[in-house]
Amino acid sequence: MKIIMASHAGFCFGVKRAVDAIENSLKNNSNPEKQIWTIGLPIHNPQEVARLQAMGLRVANDEREVPDNSEVFIRAHGESREVIERLKARNIKITDMTCPFVKKAQDLAAELSSKNYFVILLGDKNHPEIKGILGHVNNKNNAQVVANAQEAENVTRRAKIALISQTTQCEENLIKTAEKLILKAQELHICNTICKATAERQDAARSLVKENNIDGVILIGGKQSANTSKLRDIIQAEGVDVLWIEDDKELEEKSKWLINKNTIGIAAGASTPEWLINKAIQNSKFIIHNS
Ligand code: SF4
Repeated sequence: MKIIMASHAGFCFGVKRAVDAIENSLKNNSNPEKQIWTIGLPIHNPQEVARLQAMGLRVANDEREVPDNSEVFIRAHGESREVIERLKARNIKITDMTCPFVKKAQDLAAELSSKNYFVILLGDKNHPEIKGILGHVNNKNNAQVVANAQEAENVTRRAKIALISQTTQCEENLIKTAEKLILKAQELHICNTICKATAERQDAARSLVKENNIDGVILIGGKQSANTSKLRDIIQAEGVDVLWIEDDKELEEKSKWLINKNTIGIAAGASTPEWLINKAIQNSKFIIHNS
């Protein structure tokens, strides 16, 4: 049995930067009175969150749960201006680890809405990144979230529209939505804020199954991770069987899937840490060797 790894898999630059900063701060925190928090999960990967929590990280559902004199790390997805202002007003130390690519989308939303563009955000309205970008528009009435071209159909015609994308969207969705919006505005400003890391992982997953004679792909990543779910769709669209697991234990439980497979591909979402990928690879070699 052969195992082939996708050329790009696991932590992207923005997630690694944020997780490393949180981890360093937890390691170097010598003050037992000082608590280190994130608002919302720092990453869509339960095993990595559990590792950071075991080191002392606290996760709040809402900023009001964070006690005064704490430190809050803004995660890679970013945060709305309102929340940051409220934390600052309470003298809570903020370490902003918003990914620079997300920050770029936030800044464009702020700049273009202040220039009277109606902002269309392409993405998932429930995703924290979209909520954070929305929180940078100068007036929430001047923005609308759409998931795709069909939803863009319902956008009211305006003089000026700016289209900004969630960083994890696929290019095809951005192009189709932009096409739909051309007839909705006298002036359409399109911002391609899709991050390269997402496209690289998607291309790598596609190449993995197209360029190799693969019997199935083990996809490693959190079940809540949107970018991992997208990788599953891409691999399945190529007609290849996918086993989506969160960790090596789940692989062990589902080890029957490996039976009669000669060549296995390994892919992982941008929120999957390297240690989880390595453990899953080791475990699949062990299962294969003993089956
Ligand atoms: S996927 Fe891209 S935009 Fe999102 S955190 Fe990673 S590097 Fe940043």
